[in-house]
Amino acid sequence: MLKHLLLIQMAFIAIYGASLRDSIVFDGPSGQWLRDPRIILDDVSGVPPALRLNPVGYHHYDEMTAYLRAVNAAYPQLTSLYSIGQSVQGRELWVLLISTTPSEKTILKPEVKYVGNIHGNEPVGRELLLRLIQHLLVNYPQDDYVRFLMETTNIHIMPSMNPDGFEVSREGDCGGVQGRYNANGKDLNRNFPDLFKGGKNNGDPQPEANAISRWMNQRQFILSAAFHGGALVASYPFDNKEVTLNLPHLGGRYQPSLTPDDDTFKHLATMYSFNHRKMHSAGACFPGDTVFPNGTTNGAAWYYLAGGMQDYNYVWNGAMELTLEVGCCKYPKGETLPEYWEDNKQAMLKYLGEAQRGVRGQVFDSQSNPISNANIRIKGRTFGSKTTNLGEFWRILMPGVYTLQVEADGFLPSEQTFQVEEGLPTLINVSLRRGTDKTNTFNDRIPLPQLQPAQPPRRTSIFSSLSNFFGGLGRAK
Ligand SMILES: [Zn+2]
Repeated sequence: MLKHLLLIQMAFIAIYGASLRDSIVFDGPSGQWLRDPRIILDDVSGVPPALRLNPVGYHHYDEMTAYLRAVNAAYPQLTSLYSIGQSVQGRELWVLLISTTPSEKTILKPEVKYVGNIHGNEPVGRELLLRLIQHLLVNYPQDDYVRFLMETTNIHIMPSMNPDGFEVSREGDCGGVQGRYNANGKDLNRNFPDLFKGGKNNGDPQPEANAISRWMNQRQFILSAAFHGGALVASYPFDNKEVTLNLPHLGGRYQPSLTPDDDTFKHLATMYSFNHRKMHSAGACFPGDTVFPNGTTNGAAWYYLAGGMQDYNYVWNGAMELTLEVGCCKYPKGETLPEYWEDNKQAMLKYLGEAQRGVRGQVFDSQSNPISNANIRIKGRTFGSKTTNLGEFWRILMPGVYTLQVEADGFLPSEQTFQVEEGLPTLINVSLRRGTDKTNTFNDRIPLPQLQPAQPPRRTSIFSSLSNFFGGLGRAK
């Protein structure tokens, strides 16, 4: 009986896998899309004036909002504009979804996000994301790689996570902290639950960070990047380490804090830095600053921080997030923005293609009903994710042989070995049998704490300002 079921399942995988592969339009020979996207120069001559960006200036909240609305109105078949909440001062936290299926529920189309301007005074990422929006939409008709991205991926772009901080920041301020924090004086990249602090929120939960958490509970993101400034490096988890209580040594004696997915993170960071025009070969930003070989670093090896967003993405949601520092000056003059865009364009586009790596599939019961909220994990990698309400899961993995572990309440746990190849996602559908045998359950699973409810806004005291200063030291990430 078991053998019979297995045969049926294998046949299903073969048929379903083939149909998925057929539905993905690859650019050139197998795997070519990962290495050589054909990027063409932006031609905005045919773009209506309302959709054109100021190429040499920043877009404040009203201009950004008008631009996003105009884009959404002009491209209703390719975009969806939504807000995940409001900042402390009531500004919308806009997200533009770009995809060939912005309003439909698609099966197994991965969700990817780019978040800019988490620190209000680091707005280059905000502007890069506005330009990326324009690039994707203008080039969709004639650029095979752009079309491939939009057909295979749901690309969620949030230009500004800290719109209040941006409005009080000063153009030309390369190294300061004015505008870094939200309107309650809190550093949003220190405001998430932290694995190394027992899963507790690091500080009073802020509306902007809570909005991100709710968003991530609604969508199973698998790949992400947050854009910062003040350095030139692609940084990957973990940012924190058990030794937080030992005050960090400012002499550069920080130790790496590596995840079980270090191979994937190193690949993603290297992929970004080598497709960036300068990051992979840059020296120190300023005399005495850290030099990053290949333009990448483990977050903790640079310096420790608690409550960071990239660790939160990875530990609690299985989303692989990088912290991208895109320039030595946090808030450079607007006339330099075209150069920043040219520096980052290829890296930003190719990074999105990484969502096609690894494994994906659905979890069903024996009647082929999808099982939501099942725990998914790759054996030996500790941090997993949950299935969506269609039973879907994804995981970015490098080529190799892995074991998928699945468990759900009321079902017997399952293990399945599979192979990941370069250039094609592996598809596995898992069928769980009802039962209560718990002998095989994940015995080293880390309990996932509930987020604490948001606190009402409070006035910033001198003490929280001081703790922000020491927690952030005015540094990039
Ligand atoms: Zn930053």
